[in-house]
Amino acid sequence: MAKIIRSQRADTSSVRSAPKKKAARAATPLPKRAAKKPATKAAKKVAKKTAKPKPWTAAEVFEAFDRFRKANPEPKGELEHLNPYTLLVAVVLSAQATDAGVNKATRALFAVADTPQKMLELGEDRVRDYIKTIGLYRNKAKNVIALSEKLIAEFGGEVPRTRAEIESLPGAGRKTANVVLNMAFGEHTMAVDTHVFRVGNRTGLAPGKTPLEVELGLEKVIPAEFMLHAHHWLILHGRYTCLARGPRCDVCLINDLCRWPEKTV
Ligand code: SF4
Repeated sequence: MAKIIRSQRADTSSVRSAPKKKAARAATPLPKRAAKKPATKAAKKVAKKTAKPKPWTAAEVFEAFDRFRKANPEPKGELEHLNPYTLLVAVVLSAQATDAGVNKATRALFAVADTPQKMLELGEDRVRDYIKTIGLYRNKAKNVIALSEKLIAEFGGEVPRTRAEIESLPGAGRKTANVVLNMAFGEHTMAVDTHVFRVGNRTGLAPGKTPLEVELGLEKVIPAEFMLHAHHWLILHGRYTCLARGPRCDVCLINDLCRWPEKTV
């Protein structure tokens, strides 16, 4: 019986304490919700920079390339060459070098060796002397001789016309193959150098982390009718207008279409 009484007391006390707890809860002030701070100018700028750009519409891409075409209907590459072979050699020599620097060296070289046979007759030491003003010239001279040997041994002394064959030549990679296929054989390829890579990303035309991503992105969006010259228009645009430092947005042909949040117009 005594047990029963204790148990009843315990129950009663727990019931009695409920309103007390409720009162205590009511007395405790609720934490205030953090007021939404207005975004600072700097935060807005960061958000704008990191926001994914709106993809270009097909009409916008057409408009951009139509403007490039009207401004420069027959754009030319700036690497001097006499035939597909000298173009191939010039592109191999242009890795990590400027076109102007390569031209300065190849003018004299191509005057004496404009075929693989003549290049072999000249020999590696003399080739090296001709190109010693270009970066990595020792390795490049080796490649020029080795690719000339391969052209004679496997391709009848001619520059092959497929990507895989060109890429099999010493010193030639995907970019070399794209330039040669486009400029020597009129293929619709897109060589992505530092300028095209920057323009593709900045404008939002074909964003990509690697040159290959940008290349494939550009091929996907640029209409076929512009593809023969698109590579040169983009290179020239990057070299003379959309400069790495201090892009000239005020005179840019496509400044109204460009998605770069930092453009200056
Ligand atoms: S607007 Fe400026 S950033 Fe955009 S493509 Fe033109 S030069 Fe480049």
